Amino acid sequence: MHITGEGHPESPQRYTSVIEELTCNGLMKKENSVLAQEAPLSAILRCHPQTYIDLVKAECRYHQQLKLPPGKGYLSTGDVKICSDSYAIALLAAGAGLIAVDAVMQKKSKTAFCVIRPPGHHATSTQGMGFCLFNNVAIAARYAQAIYKAKKVLIADWDVHHGNGTQEIFFSDPSVFYFSTHQEGIYPGSGKREEIGAGTIHNAPLKGGPGSRISVLKVYEEELFAAMEIFKPDLILLSAGFDAHKDDPIGGMDLITEDFVALTRSIKKIADKYCDGRIVSLLEGGYNLEALRASASAHVKELSMI
Ligand SMILES: [Zn+2]
Repeated sequence: MHITGEGHPESPQRYTSVIEELTCNGLMKKENSVLAQEAPLSAILRCHPQTYIDLVKAECRYHQQLKLPPGKGYLSTGDVKICSDSYAIALLAAGAGLIAVDAVMQKKSKTAFCVIRPPGHHATSTQGMGFCLFNNVAIAARYAQAIYKAKKVLIADWDVHHGNGTQEIFFSDPSVFYFSTHQEGIYPGSGKREEIGAGTIHNAPLKGGPGSRISVLKVYEEELFAAMEIFKPDLILLSAGFDAHKDDPIGGMDLITEDFVALTRSIKKIADKYCDGRIVSLLEGGYNLEALRASASAHVKELSMI
């Protein structure tokens, strides 16, 4: 119901393809899946001020009043298509992360994957941009801290783009470690090595093109492991974008589907060592439907193996 218009890469088909694939592969069953519920305002307010939440709500309503055909409206703060239902759907996307955190922190499941859109990691506290309205992963991190007293949360982000919004929200907060690999020189332009915040921001901008897959895998095995030896997280959240895949129309890296399995294994090793295996993964980008469904499914299969 969050309609972005014909030809837009962040399409409703992304959601249906992943759900279809997980169902076909037997990874999504009645007993292990839950429908999202809208995040309460109190949870969104931990990352976004009331003024910004009101702006998103009002602009979606405005498009409804104008009776613009779905896919014609933009949020005023950045490149995010909105329609009359986008506000409600963005609340559902953020709410999925909270249910996943509940499941993992209450030990109903070791790991959880949220099939959600719109994505979230480009949304700063006051500015929706890059197809993102609310920062789903950041809202989940602050929820885990507020409700379950998680002291230290790692957010790992392997989307091909830098999660500038997540970085901004936690820039001076040493209780959340933001670790990002991304292609250098592309949207949104942030994510340089020297951006370290309170010492708990770790950016690894990498050259795109042939061989970039090897550099991504190496950064997770070496730099993330070393950083976590010091940080020791209580919970791991993943900004799981699949647009670093070689077939993605937006990204310029060359990862293959199996690389997302290797990346998942790296994260699992850290989760097993420091936080009883707890991982909540949230879908971010990934715009080639075939590559997205295969990679997300391979990721979930690996996540679900204990
Ligand atoms: Zn992306």
